[in-house]
Amino acid sequence: MKINGQCHCGEIQYTAEVDQNKVIACHCSDCQEISSGPFRIAVMTLPNSVIFTVGKPKEYIKIAESGNKRAQGFCENCGTTLYATSVGDGDKIYGLRIGAIKQREQLIPKVQIWCRSAALWLKELSDINAFDTVPTI
Ligand SMILES: [Zn+2]
Ligand SMILES: [Zn+2]
Repeated sequence: MKINGQCHCGEIQYTAEVDQNKVIACHCSDCQEISSGPFRIAVMTLPNSVIFTVGKPKEYIKIAESGNKRAQGFCENCGTTLYATSVGDGDKIYGLRIGAIKQREQLIPKVQIWCRSAALWLKELSDINAFDTVPTI
């Protein structure tokens, strides 16, 4: 499926072709720290399908436990995290963070990984008081 996305400030904009069946929620501690949230959700792109139409993301190279290097792309201006991808030459497949994708409502997670480090309260999320906006105090 064709998607388009952008960071919060709009300095980085992109299009890509993604595989709707490869939407992954990752609960690993690296994803928690880098997103500063409980988990991250990414959709995998088809090889070499990402085109940056506006701007150029900054990349932070993360070294995994396995020694693998992964480039983590983000907007230098507003800090929105956009993707992870391989380092170096060869076909480029991106794991695009779905929050910055306009069509994100159609991207439903199909699998969760690294659940051993998942926030325990996530299982009870539907039981926590929920408001459409911010409640008046
Ligand atoms: Zn930005
Ligand atoms: Zn992760």
